[in-house]
Amino acid sequence: MTIFEGKGVYGAIALGKISVFKRKEASVKRTHVDDIEAEKKRVETAKSKATEQLQEIYSKALKEVGEANAQIFEIHMMMLEDDDYNDSIMSIIETQSVNAEYAIAVTADNFAEMFASMDDAYMQARSADVKDISNRMISCLSGTEGMSDISQEKVIICADDLAPSETVLLDKEKVLAFVTAFGSSNSHTAILARNMNIPAVIGVGEEFLQTAKSGDFMAVDGYTGEIFVNPDEETRSRLEKRQTEDEEKKRLLQELKGKENITLDGKKINIYANIGGVDNIGAVLANDAGGIGLFRSEFLYLESSDFPTEEQQFLAYKKVLESMAGKKVIIRTLDIGADKQVDYFNLAKEENPALGYRAIRICLTRPEIFKTQLRALYRASTYGNLGIMFPMITSVSELEQILAICDEVKKELCADGVMISDKIELGIMIETPAAAIISDRLAPMVDFFSVGTNDLTQYTLACDRQNAAIESFVDTHHEAILRLIEMSAKNAHEHGAWIGICGELAADTSLTETFLRMGIDELSVSPTFVLKVRDAVRHCDLSK
Ligand code: PEP
Ligand code: MG
Repeated sequence: MTIFEGKGVYGAIALGKISVFKRKEASVKRTHVDDIEAEKKRVETAKSKATEQLQEIYSKALKEVGEANAQIFEIHMMMLEDDDYNDSIMSIIETQSVNAEYAIAVTADNFAEMFASMDDAYMQARSADVKDISNRMISCLSGTEGMSDISQEKVIICADDLAPSETVLLDKEKVLAFVTAFGSSNSHTAILARNMNIPAVIGVGEEFLQTAKSGDFMAVDGYTGEIFVNPDEETRSRLEKRQTEDEEKKRLLQELKGKENITLDGKKINIYANIGGVDNIGAVLANDAGGIGLFRSEFLYLESSDFPTEEQQFLAYKKVLESMAGKKVIIRTLDIGADKQVDYFNLAKEENPALGYRAIRICLTRPEIFKTQLRALYRASTYGNLGIMFPMITSVSELEQILAICDEVKKELCADGVMISDKIELGIMIETPAAAIISDRLAPMVDFFSVGTNDLTQYTLACDRQNAAIESFVDTHHEAILRLIEMSAKNAHEHGAWIGICGELAADTSLTETFLRMGIDELSVSPTFVLKVRDAVRHCDLSK
């Protein structure tokens, strides 16, 4: 048995045979060509073929992993049309009288290097994308396109790394898991894998590639990130047992659908779901969430190449509200900045973006953006049960300004004869220590609080949530964080407001009882955790 360790990006167990993923890579040779024009035509033909393929992959990804994740293939199509990229290929063919494959390969290397050397993490990630599209073009030219065949039985795919297009093309029916030697947990591949519900461990290291052989047996522990090549009997049966337990747990959780979120002593709470876009509604309904506790509206902006219009936003909000058929839908206003960068906002590069110009700070200084979103929200309000929530609040005066802008927008809409629901709840995120500490002042101004434990943890413990190097210093159960939540709950209730938690900690069932004892009224979690949290609530007894 050989053991390797990487990072689990989707927690589950898989046991099965290895299939080493081999790309049918076209080897590129430099050859002299006489007919430059014919060579340039070959590039154009390959480009159309590559675009066609990408269009197909995009449609497949759209169905399987939703619009936000499929978007990478739209970016690939855009990259294929990029003038600098195309000019470089054509000029290499012209000036050196060389074959198209060679010109594309050289251009790919140059562009990949250029992207890799940029400061911005988003641009660095484009390096893999430019290689991906170039390989596709070269494959189209040499007729070697297509992936290595996956055998008929279910297998664990092992690879150096998988390009996003390769991940999405995997036939899920035949894949038990995938393990890669490289890759980061924030890569598109990792995100796609989570969405496709495929157990995955990444970054296992180069040595693993020499050991993993197609046909060998392997056990993957997506919880711990451990990989066992040819596991011994003890390991195999331990993981098989865990896998059976997981399946049994999943089956039992399904039985909780339609049941109440009620403790043994009769206290009821709401369990809602967090979503990033309209595409996630199916998962919310399938997991029987009581509402949507956090719609991260910034994804509408991240998915778009320019500011989404009032009408585009209105249609998205209307759709979510209508689909939830009267259940609560809390839409958070724009939370752009820090890790969520959008080019067209033209935000300056900052030393400390998490402490910088982001979220409500952008909305208050660029009210035209904020007002467009608020108009869309108010217009959509009559289609369901809307709550609007504001992120990154630190002071009373910010909230006063926000409420004044809301009133202004409502008056403008009323003057235009637009109907607005009179039941909209307004709330704020408690995600800065400042907001928790002055929660007694903020509570009388709103209907609800929602604790964003992801940011509250980063700001309270002074630990950048993006920095993997300090993960060991992040104690999510730190007393300081729990005290801030408790303080906020007490202040909310004293002033007639309700309080929920929508950060990742809401799904931590080792804290469910603690939260209930604090008086938390709502927990909002990823759709797949709704039933797990319901189960935890139903096992709590607060009378003891
Ligand atoms: C949070 O900070 O806990 C939160 C829910 O918001 P986000 O993760 O989008 O910053
Ligand atoms: Mg946050």
